[in-house]
Amino acid sequence: MLKNKAYKYRIYPTEEQKVFFAKTFGSVRFIYNVMLHDKIKHYEAHGEMLYNTPAQYKKEHAFLKEVDSLALANAQLNLEKAYKNFFRELKKGNKDQGFPKFRKKSYAQSYTTNNQNGTVSLVDNKYLNIPKLKTLVRIKLHRQIPANTEIKSVTVERTSSGKFYASILVIESILPLEPLSTKVAIDLGLKTFATLSNSDSIPNPKYLRQREDRLKRLQRALSRKVKGSKNYYKNKRLIAIQHEKISNQRKDFLHKRSKELINKNQVINIESIKVKNMIKNHKLAKSIADASWSIFTEMLTYKSDWYGRTLNKADAYYASSQLCHVCNYKNIEVKDLAVRKWTCPQCSSYHDRDDNASQNLLKIG
Ligand SMILES: [Zn+2]
Repeated sequence: MLKNKAYKYRIYPTEEQKVFFAKTFGSVRFIYNVMLHDKIKHYEAHGEMLYNTPAQYKKEHAFLKEVDSLALANAQLNLEKAYKNFFRELKKGNKDQGFPKFRKKSYAQSYTTNNQNGTVSLVDNKYLNIPKLKTLVRIKLHRQIPANTEIKSVTVERTSSGKFYASILVIESILPLEPLSTKVAIDLGLKTFATLSNSDSIPNPKYLRQREDRLKRLQRALSRKVKGSKNYYKNKRLIAIQHEKISNQRKDFLHKRSKELINKNQVINIESIKVKNMIKNHKLAKSIADASWSIFTEMLTYKSDWYGRTLNKADAYYASSQLCHVCNYKNIEVKDLAVRKWTCPQCSSYHDRDDNASQNLLKIG
Protein backbone atom coordinates (compact mmCIF):
# COMPACT_ATOMS: atom_id res chain seq x y z
CA MET A 1 0.00 0.00 0.00
CA LEU A 2 1.32 3.45 -0.86
CA LYS A 3 0.90 5.98 1.89
CA ASN A 4 1.86 9.56 2.53
CA LYS A 5 3.83 9.88 5.70
CA ALA A 6 5.43 12.92 7.28
CA TYR A 7 8.74 12.96 9.14
CA LYS A 8 9.37 16.02 11.25
CA TYR A 9 12.85 17.18 12.19
CA ARG A 10 14.40 20.13 13.93
CA ILE A 11 16.53 22.25 11.60
CA TYR A 12 19.15 24.83 12.54
CA PRO A 13 19.27 27.63 9.97
CA THR A 14 22.06 30.22 10.01
CA GLU A 15 21.12 33.90 10.40
CA GLU A 16 21.27 34.29 6.64
CA GLN A 17 19.00 31.28 6.12
CA LYS A 18 16.57 32.63 8.71
CA VAL A 19 16.27 35.79 6.60
CA PHE A 20 15.50 33.65 3.55
CA PHE A 21 12.78 31.75 5.45
CA ALA A 22 11.31 34.96 6.91
CA LYS A 23 11.07 36.39 3.40
CA THR A 24 9.32 33.27 2.12
CA PHE A 25 6.90 33.14 5.06
CA GLY A 26 6.02 36.79 4.44
CA SER A 27 5.54 36.35 0.70
CA VAL A 28 3.36 33.27 1.15
CA ARG A 29 1.15 35.10 3.64
CA PHE A 30 1.07 38.13 1.33
CA ILE A 31 0.00 36.20 -1.77
CA TYR A 32 -2.63 34.29 0.20
CA ASN A 33 -4.14 37.48 1.59
CA VAL A 34 -4.00 39.50 -1.63
CA MET A 35 -5.61 36.70 -3.64
CA LEU A 36 -8.33 36.28 -1.01
CA HIS A 37 -8.91 40.04 -0.97
CA ASP A 38 -9.28 40.15 -4.78
CA LYS A 39 -11.62 37.14 -4.79
CA ILE A 40 -13.88 38.87 -2.27
CA LYS A 41 -13.87 42.19 -4.16
CA HIS A 42 -14.53 40.45 -7.47
CA TYR A 43 -17.43 38.53 -5.99
CA GLU A 44 -18.91 41.71 -4.53
CA ALA A 45 -18.68 43.48 -7.88
CA HIS A 46 -19.63 40.66 -10.28
CA GLY A 47 -21.28 37.96 -8.18
CA GLU A 48 -18.88 35.27 -9.40
CA MET A 49 -15.65 33.57 -8.37
CA LEU A 50 -12.35 35.03 -9.50
CA TYR A 51 -9.76 32.51 -10.64
CA ASN A 52 -6.45 34.20 -9.92
CA THR A 53 -2.90 32.82 -9.78
CA PRO A 54 0.30 34.03 -8.05
CA ALA A 55 1.92 34.72 -11.45
CA GLN A 56 -0.53 37.58 -12.06
CA TYR A 57 0.88 39.45 -9.06
CA LYS A 58 4.57 39.24 -9.87
CA LYS A 59 4.67 42.29 -12.12
CA GLU A 60 3.18 44.61 -9.56
CA HIS A 61 5.01 43.04 -6.61
CA ALA A 62 8.49 42.28 -7.91
CA PHE A 63 9.70 40.76 -4.63
CA LEU A 64 7.53 37.73 -5.40
CA LYS A 65 9.84 36.84 -8.29
CA GLU A 66 12.67 36.18 -5.86
CA VAL A 67 10.63 33.67 -3.86
CA ASP A 68 10.23 29.94 -4.48
CA SER A 69 7.30 29.83 -6.91
CA LEU A 70 6.19 26.41 -5.61
CA ALA A 71 5.74 27.93 -2.14
CA LEU A 72 3.42 30.52 -3.71
CA ALA A 73 1.59 27.83 -5.70
CA ASN A 74 0.97 25.90 -2.49
CA ALA A 75 -0.47 29.05 -0.89
CA GLN A 76 -2.88 29.24 -3.84
CA LEU A 77 -3.84 25.57 -3.36
CA ASN A 78 -4.43 26.17 0.35
CA LEU A 79 -6.69 29.10 -0.39
CA GLU A 80 -8.68 27.08 -2.93
CA LYS A 81 -8.98 24.26 -0.41
CA ALA A 82 -10.29 26.71 2.21
CA TYR A 83 -12.96 27.86 -0.26
CA LYS A 84 -13.89 24.29 -1.17
CA ASN A 85 -14.27 23.31 2.51
CA PHE A 86 -16.40 26.37 3.16
CA PHE A 87 -18.78 25.61 0.27
CA ARG A 88 -18.92 21.89 1.00
CA GLU A 89 -19.87 22.45 4.65
CA LEU A 90 -22.31 25.21 3.71
CA LYS A 91 -24.09 22.76 1.40
CA LYS A 92 -24.40 20.33 4.31
CA GLY A 93 -25.88 23.12 6.43
CA ASN A 94 -22.84 23.32 8.69
CA LYS A 95 -22.10 26.93 9.60
CA ASP A 96 -19.12 26.14 11.83
CA GLN A 97 -16.72 25.89 8.89
CA GLY A 98 -16.17 29.60 8.40
CA PHE A 99 -15.36 31.63 5.31
CA PRO A 100 -11.60 31.64 4.46
CA LYS A 101 -9.81 33.99 6.84
CA PHE A 102 -7.00 36.44 6.22
CA ARG A 103 -3.70 35.23 7.64
CA LYS A 104 -2.54 37.28 10.58
CA LYS A 105 1.02 38.36 11.01
CA SER A 106 2.36 36.20 13.84
CA TYR A 107 5.74 34.82 14.71
CA ALA A 108 4.71 31.23 14.02
CA GLN A 109 4.79 30.77 10.24
CA SER A 110 5.24 28.05 7.67
CA TYR A 111 5.43 27.35 3.98
CA THR A 112 5.42 24.25 1.81
CA THR A 113 7.47 23.52 -1.30
CA ASN A 114 7.67 20.46 -3.52
CA ASN A 115 10.44 18.13 -4.53
CA GLN A 116 11.22 18.23 -8.24
CA ASN A 117 13.92 15.76 -9.23
CA GLY A 118 15.87 16.10 -6.03
CA THR A 119 15.40 19.79 -5.28
CA VAL A 120 14.41 18.63 -1.81
CA SER A 121 16.97 16.12 -0.54
CA LEU A 122 19.03 15.02 2.43
CA VAL A 123 22.80 15.35 2.19
CA ASP A 124 25.10 13.14 4.32
CA ASN A 125 22.26 12.71 6.86
CA LYS A 126 23.28 16.10 8.21
CA TYR A 127 21.90 18.66 5.82
CA LEU A 128 18.69 19.42 3.99
CA ASN A 129 18.61 20.83 0.50
CA ILE A 130 15.71 23.26 -0.01
CA PRO A 131 14.68 24.84 -3.36
CA LYS A 132 15.90 28.41 -3.97
CA LEU A 133 18.01 28.35 -0.81
CA LYS A 134 21.63 28.55 -1.96
CA THR A 135 23.16 26.86 1.08
CA LEU A 136 22.32 23.61 2.88
CA VAL A 137 20.45 23.75 6.21
CA ARG A 138 21.68 21.70 9.13
CA ILE A 139 19.10 19.08 10.15
CA LYS A 140 18.94 16.72 13.13
CA LEU A 141 17.81 13.33 11.81
CA HIS A 142 16.72 11.75 15.08
CA ARG A 143 15.14 8.97 13.01
CA GLN A 144 15.90 7.77 9.50
CA ILE A 145 13.49 8.07 6.61
CA PRO A 146 13.03 4.50 5.29
CA ALA A 147 14.85 3.67 2.08
CA ASN A 148 11.74 2.64 0.10
CA THR A 149 10.39 6.18 0.04
CA GLU A 150 10.29 9.17 -2.22
CA ILE A 151 10.22 12.77 -0.95
CA LYS A 152 7.11 14.61 -2.11
CA SER A 153 7.34 17.94 -0.33
CA VAL A 154 8.73 19.75 2.65
CA THR A 155 7.06 22.20 5.04
CA VAL A 156 9.36 24.62 6.80
CA GLU A 157 7.95 25.91 10.04
CA ARG A 158 9.02 28.53 12.55
CA THR A 159 7.29 28.10 15.92
CA SER A 160 6.27 30.91 18.24
CA SER A 161 9.23 30.06 20.44
CA GLY A 162 11.58 30.63 17.49
CA LYS A 163 12.52 27.04 16.66
CA PHE A 164 12.62 25.79 13.09
CA TYR A 165 11.30 22.45 11.88
CA ALA A 166 11.13 20.69 8.54
CA SER A 167 8.26 18.29 7.95
CA ILE A 168 9.29 15.99 5.12
CA LEU A 169 6.36 14.34 3.37
CA VAL A 170 7.26 11.06 1.68
CA ILE A 171 5.45 8.41 -0.30
CA GLU A 172 6.12 5.17 1.45
CA SER A 173 5.12 1.64 0.54
CA ILE A 174 3.78 0.04 3.70
CA LEU A 175 3.42 -3.71 4.01
CA PRO A 176 0.45 -5.01 6.05
CA LEU A 177 1.37 -6.96 9.18
CA GLU A 178 0.94 -10.72 9.49
CA PRO A 179 -2.76 -11.39 10.41
CA LEU A 180 -3.44 -12.40 14.04
CA SER A 181 -6.45 -13.88 15.86
CA THR A 182 -6.26 -11.47 18.80
CA LYS A 183 -8.92 -8.96 19.78
CA VAL A 184 -8.79 -6.20 22.38
CA ALA A 185 -11.11 -3.47 23.68
CA ILE A 186 -9.86 -0.14 24.96
CA ASP A 187 -11.60 2.04 27.51
CA LEU A 188 -10.09 5.52 27.58
CA GLY A 189 -10.07 7.26 30.93
CA LEU A 190 -8.78 10.20 32.91
CA LYS A 191 -6.98 8.44 35.76
CA THR A 192 -5.53 5.66 33.64
CA PHE A 193 -5.00 6.59 30.02
CA ALA A 194 -6.51 3.32 28.80
CA THR A 195 -7.86 0.14 30.36
CA LEU A 196 -7.61 -2.91 28.12
CA SER A 197 -9.96 -5.90 28.11
CA ASN A 198 -7.01 -8.29 28.53
CA SER A 199 -6.47 -6.76 32.00
CA ASP A 200 -3.51 -4.67 30.80
CA SER A 201 -3.59 -0.94 31.14
CA ILE A 202 -1.75 2.06 29.75
CA PRO A 203 -0.99 4.59 32.51
CA ASN A 204 -0.69 8.29 31.85
CA PRO A 205 3.02 9.05 31.66
CA LYS A 206 4.31 10.78 34.80
CA TYR A 207 6.62 13.14 32.95
CA LEU A 208 3.63 14.63 31.14
CA ARG A 209 1.83 15.32 34.43
CA GLN A 210 4.90 17.10 35.76
CA ARG A 211 5.19 19.26 32.66
CA GLU A 212 1.50 20.07 32.77
CA ASP A 213 1.82 21.17 36.39
CA ARG A 214 4.64 23.46 35.40
CA LEU A 215 2.52 24.86 32.58
CA LYS A 216 -0.31 25.59 35.04
CA ARG A 217 2.11 27.45 37.32
CA LEU A 218 3.40 29.51 34.38
CA GLN A 219 -0.14 30.38 33.32
CA ARG A 220 -1.01 31.51 36.84
CA ALA A 221 2.17 33.60 36.97
CA LEU A 222 1.26 35.25 33.67
CA SER A 223 -2.02 36.55 35.07
CA ARG A 224 -0.06 38.43 37.74
CA LYS A 225 2.34 40.10 35.28
CA VAL A 226 1.74 43.57 33.89
CA LYS A 227 0.45 43.17 30.34
CA GLY A 228 3.04 44.34 27.81
CA SER A 229 5.92 44.34 30.30
CA LYS A 230 9.24 42.62 29.70
CA ASN A 231 8.44 39.92 32.24
CA TYR A 232 5.07 39.38 30.63
CA TYR A 233 6.65 38.50 27.29
CA LYS A 234 9.33 36.42 28.94
CA ASN A 235 6.62 34.43 30.71
CA LYS A 236 4.62 34.06 27.47
CA ARG A 237 7.66 32.66 25.71
CA LEU A 238 8.19 30.12 28.49
CA ILE A 239 4.55 29.06 28.14
CA ALA A 240 4.97 28.59 24.39
CA ILE A 241 8.09 26.45 24.93
CA GLN A 242 6.30 24.36 27.56
CA HIS A 243 3.31 23.84 25.25
CA GLU A 244 5.58 22.64 22.48
CA LYS A 245 7.42 20.20 24.71
CA ILE A 246 4.18 18.75 26.05
CA SER A 247 2.71 18.39 22.60
CA ASN A 248 5.82 16.63 21.23
CA GLN A 249 6.14 14.27 24.17
CA ARG A 250 2.45 13.46 24.12
CA LYS A 251 2.52 12.67 20.42
CA ASP A 252 5.54 10.46 20.91
CA PHE A 253 3.74 8.58 23.70
CA LEU A 254 0.58 8.17 21.59
CA HIS A 255 2.56 6.96 18.56
CA LYS A 256 4.35 4.29 20.57
CA ARG A 257 1.25 3.02 22.38
CA SER A 258 -0.95 2.95 19.27
CA LYS A 259 1.69 1.07 17.25
CA GLU A 260 2.08 -1.44 20.08
CA LEU A 261 -1.67 -2.14 20.11
CA ILE A 262 -1.69 -2.50 16.33
CA ASN A 263 1.28 -4.88 16.45
CA LYS A 264 -0.36 -7.18 18.99
CA ASN A 265 -4.03 -7.18 17.93
CA GLN A 266 -5.99 -7.98 14.79
CA VAL A 267 -9.22 -6.34 16.02
CA ILE A 268 -9.39 -3.27 18.25
CA ASN A 269 -12.63 -1.95 19.75
CA ILE A 270 -12.78 1.54 21.15
CA GLU A 271 -15.40 3.84 22.59
CA SER A 272 -16.44 6.84 20.54
CA ILE A 273 -14.91 10.10 21.75
CA LYS A 274 -18.37 11.69 21.95
CA VAL A 275 -19.23 9.56 24.96
CA LYS A 276 -16.08 10.68 26.64
CA ASN A 277 -16.89 14.31 25.99
CA MET A 278 -19.84 14.00 28.35
CA ILE A 279 -17.50 13.55 31.26
CA LYS A 280 -17.44 16.58 33.49
CA ASN A 281 -14.10 17.14 35.07
CA HIS A 282 -11.51 19.72 35.90
CA LYS A 283 -11.16 21.95 32.86
CA LEU A 284 -7.47 21.64 32.01
CA ALA A 285 -7.26 17.93 32.77
CA LYS A 286 -10.28 17.37 30.58
CA SER A 287 -9.07 19.41 27.63
CA ILE A 288 -5.72 17.63 27.73
CA ALA A 289 -7.43 14.24 27.87
CA ASP A 290 -9.81 15.22 25.04
CA ALA A 291 -6.92 16.17 22.80
CA SER A 292 -5.02 12.97 23.55
CA TRP A 293 -8.03 10.75 23.03
CA SER A 294 -8.87 12.16 19.66
CA ILE A 295 -5.25 12.06 18.42
CA PHE A 296 -4.99 8.49 19.72
CA THR A 297 -8.20 7.40 17.96
CA GLU A 298 -7.01 9.08 14.78
CA MET A 299 -3.67 7.27 14.96
CA LEU A 300 -5.39 3.92 15.55
CA THR A 301 -7.67 4.65 12.59
CA TYR A 302 -4.97 5.27 10.01
CA LYS A 303 -2.52 2.73 11.39
CA SER A 304 -5.13 -0.05 11.36
CA ASP A 305 -5.75 0.88 7.74
CA TRP A 306 -2.04 0.81 6.90
CA TYR A 307 -1.31 -2.48 8.63
CA GLY A 308 -4.43 -4.47 7.75
CA ARG A 309 -6.10 -4.38 11.17
CA THR A 310 -9.78 -3.74 12.06
CA LEU A 311 -10.87 -0.87 14.28
CA ASN A 312 -14.45 -0.77 15.61
CA LYS A 313 -15.83 2.33 17.31
CA ALA A 314 -18.75 1.91 19.71
CA ASP A 315 -21.53 4.34 18.92
CA ALA A 316 -22.20 7.35 21.09
CA TYR A 317 -25.12 5.79 22.97
CA TYR A 318 -23.58 2.47 23.89
CA ALA A 319 -23.63 2.45 27.71
CA SER A 320 -20.42 0.47 28.16
CA SER A 321 -19.99 1.46 31.83
CA GLN A 322 -23.56 0.76 32.92
CA LEU A 323 -24.10 -2.69 31.37
CA CYS A 324 -23.10 -5.75 33.39
CA HIS A 325 -20.79 -7.60 31.00
CA VAL A 326 -21.90 -10.96 32.44
CA CYS A 327 -25.71 -10.75 32.24
CA ASN A 328 -26.28 -7.49 30.32
CA TYR A 329 -28.30 -5.89 33.15
CA LYS A 330 -28.28 -2.08 32.84
CA ASN A 331 -27.46 -0.39 36.12
CA ILE A 332 -28.11 3.35 35.72
CA GLU A 333 -26.66 4.07 39.15
CA VAL A 334 -23.23 3.56 37.58
CA LYS A 335 -23.81 6.72 35.53
CA ASP A 336 -22.40 8.49 38.56
CA LEU A 337 -18.64 8.66 37.91
CA ALA A 338 -17.89 8.34 41.61
CA VAL A 339 -19.02 4.69 41.47
CA ARG A 340 -15.71 2.87 40.85
CA LYS A 341 -16.84 -0.64 41.94
CA TRP A 342 -20.30 -2.17 41.91
CA THR A 343 -22.19 -5.45 42.32
CA CYS A 344 -24.72 -6.45 39.66
CA PRO A 345 -28.23 -6.60 41.24
CA GLN A 346 -29.24 -9.34 38.79
CA CYS A 347 -26.34 -11.80 38.71
CA SER A 348 -24.26 -10.57 41.69
CA SER A 349 -21.05 -10.18 39.67
CA TYR A 350 -18.63 -7.77 41.27
CA HIS A 351 -17.25 -5.15 38.82
CA ASP A 352 -14.46 -2.65 38.56
CA ARG A 353 -15.93 0.21 36.55
CA ASP A 354 -13.23 0.43 33.84
CA ASP A 355 -12.66 -3.31 33.53
CA ASN A 356 -16.37 -3.92 33.07
CA ALA A 357 -16.57 -1.15 30.43
CA SER A 358 -13.69 -2.65 28.46
CA GLN A 359 -15.31 -6.12 28.61
CA ASN A 360 -18.49 -4.64 27.12
CA LEU A 361 -16.55 -2.86 24.40
CA LEU A 362 -15.04 -6.20 23.45
CA LYS A 363 -18.49 -7.34 22.32
CA ILE A 364 -19.01 -4.74 19.60
CA GLY A 365 -18.04 -5.07 15.95
ZN1 LIG B 1 -25.08 -9.10 35.91
